Amino acid sequence: MKLVLATSNKGKVKEIKALCEDFEVIPYSELMDEFEIVEDGSSFKENALIKARAVFKALNSDDVIVMADDSGISVDVLDGKPGIYSARHAGKNANDKDNLYKLIQDIKDKNVLSSPAHYTAAIAIVTKKGEYTVHGWMYGTAISEAVGEGGFGYDPLFIPLGYDKTLGELDNEIKKKLSHRAKALELAKIVLQTV
Ligand code: IMP
Repeated sequence: MKLVLATSNKGKVKEIKALCEDFEVIPYSELMDEFEIVEDGSSFKENALIKARAVFKALNSDDVIVMADDSGISVDVLDGKPGIYSARHAGKNANDKDNLYKLIQDIKDKNVLSSPAHYTAAIAIVTKKGEYTVHGWMYGTAISEAVGEGGFGYDPLFIPLGYDKTLGELDNEIKKKLSHRAKALELAKIVLQTV
């Protein structure tokens, strides 16, 4: 049974493949042309389900399990923003760098150097038998500068709890143990083993 990912985000695909070594993981863009999925849910969970359902329907096969992740960062000093809007924080066509520097500016605009923050990941699994969702979180501090080149997205501004370096500086192996996605995937694997 193939585990198809309803994402083509290279950073996520790389992380999910590394964390799901027991499965044949394929981004859906290797099976069909990519298409636009309108993520208009009001939570990470709803958006993950929207993506997984859309790809499951488009693949039209009983022999696949589709998994989608919806994730983002919530910054306390910004009342939890950007949250579910993390991918488009700097606008509809914003890339990772645009979003990163917009968030840094937002934190600076609050006249602070840092703020407590957390990442959330919701994972939805859709199969012919049913739909399942799990979550994972990673807590830490968002700082008002970008440090390090590792990871992706907002990693250069995020210092996980218990560390004094950003995810942009820390080794990938550390993120593999700590991350919101790793925690959600641990639970997702239990679901995958039962379906
Ligand atoms: P999604 O693809 O709609 O789930 O959007 C997720 C957004 O949050 C993107 O802007 C990502 O760059 C960001 N994001 C999610 N997970 C991480 C992470 O582990 N590190 C850095 N940024 C992340």
